[in-house]
Amino acid sequence: MAAPRDGLGAVETEGNGGRSESSGAEVVLSSDPATPAPLCPHGPTLLFVKVSQGREGTRRFYACSACRDRKDCNFFQWEDEKLSGARLAAREAYNRRCQPPLSRTQCVERYLKFIELPLSQRKFCQRCQQLLLPDDWEKHGEHQVVGDVSLTQLKRPSRLLYPLENKKTNAQYLFADRSCQFLVDLLSTLGFRRVLCVGTPRLHELIRLKASGDKKSNIKSLLLDIDFRYSQFYMEDSFCHYNMFNHHFFDGKAALEVCRTFLQEDKGEGVIMVTDPPFGGLVEPLAVTFKKLIAMWKEGQSQDNSHKELPIFWIFPYFFESRICQFFPSFCMLDYQVDYDNHALYKHGKTGRKQSPVRIFTNIPPNKIILPIEEGYRFCPLCQRYVSLENQHCEHCNSCTSKDGRKWNHCFFCKKCVKPSWIHCSICNHCALPDHSCEGPKDGCFVCGELDHKRSTCPNISTSKKVNKE
Ligand code: SAH
Ligand code: ZN
Ligand code: ZN
Ligand code: ZN
Ligand code: ZN
Repeated sequence: MAAPRDGLGAVETEGNGGRSESSGAEVVLSSDPATPAPLCPHGPTLLFVKVSQGREGTRRFYACSACRDRKDCNFFQWEDEKLSGARLAAREAYNRRCQPPLSRTQCVERYLKFIELPLSQRKFCQRCQQLLLPDDWEKHGEHQVVGDVSLTQLKRPSRLLYPLENKKTNAQYLFADRSCQFLVDLLSTLGFRRVLCVGTPRLHELIRLKASGDKKSNIKSLLLDIDFRYSQFYMEDSFCHYNMFNHHFFDGKAALEVCRTFLQEDKGEGVIMVTDPPFGGLVEPLAVTFKKLIAMWKEGQSQDNSHKELPIFWIFPYFFESRICQFFPSFCMLDYQVDYDNHALYKHGKTGRKQSPVRIFTNIPPNKIILPIEEGYRFCPLCQRYVSLENQHCEHCNSCTSKDGRKWNHCFFCKKCVKPSWIHCSICNHCALPDHSCEGPKDGCFVCGELDHKRSTCPNISTSKKVNKE
């Protein structure tokens, strides 16, 4: 395989992309709460620090939380920079101009009008990605327009809209039907009645489709997503325009209350959060956001339930395991491989690679989660969880150790199982790809020197920071 690093190089680069490794900057979360971050069109910005050769600089700056590409949002401000009143006013005006042209209420009004139209008058502009009312037709006369938009099509907006694939901001990769179906069935088997979908528009629509189709599974769903196009298809109580990197609700308090009410309904019983963030996103800000959503859910709990956790499915590549578990120690990674429709790499079948690196991280006990036997998963009674067919139980590690779905081999020098393509290197004193360079961390992590991740996803990063300070 030509791709670097065990064939997952491309993916790992994505995982480290954006502001972390490639542009040499890292997010700083311990910003002083007394100084609120300045706002960009995507809500409060995040504080970053420049990093070069693994060393942190001293001058910190604010940049957009959502857009990891300056082309999408070019906000930049040094932490200690003082702005004139005129510049602040200009920025505020700019932020307002960047908001969607229609308010949330206007979108709902338009939708209600749209569904009243006869089929022949229901049109969708592909260029503008917009449902058209008769008054709009003229303006879109020259555009590619789809006619006869049926109610069935309206219920599946993720098929009507094109996926926003720009890697660095939206990275919209939609679930393949098989994976989406699996998730919906699983949620229903586990007995959930409400699903908070954070960045999972296709899951959201499938849940609603099922709920309207069969009376038995009446699961409710609320979608939080930064993709404003979805607001054309849902009422206020089923979609909020939201930024998951800073917990920002674009439509203010009313939208926040929609979310709160949803989480706290039935004293918080029967609800789960499912999220599939862009993989290039930084794990820390996501973890901070999810902890805020958890806190919101907790507020609605009675005292004697205080030990309970909000059930979560966090869908992310397997090589983020140590990073995610650092923030959520109760999470474990399931072996289920999540497949996507429009992702060349993670698609199952002839054209895409067979093995998707994307997994589900969850705080639900894994023995409760049955993975499909017909797709080759089996139950390991020793590990008390379902695992991939090739993931064999290692008697030395006493666990099914494979992370990527291939059979891993136990190394007696390293005292652990390693990827099948690795061999033990006596110079480096650990296992690595046969053609690795023994000189050390050049291609790998600045912090610990391991070759399978970069600094930004290093499980040892917090310890090393502490060491540096001392
Ligand atoms: N597999 C999912 C889609 C995941 S793609 C499905 O099929 O339902 C990532 C999703 O997160 C996209 O819908 C994208 O619009 C959304 N997203 C990207 N950046 C975001 C942000 N900053 N805040 C909220 N949602 C975001
Ligand atoms: Zn921004
Ligand atoms: Zn082993
Ligand atoms: Zn070894
Ligand atoms: Zn490392």
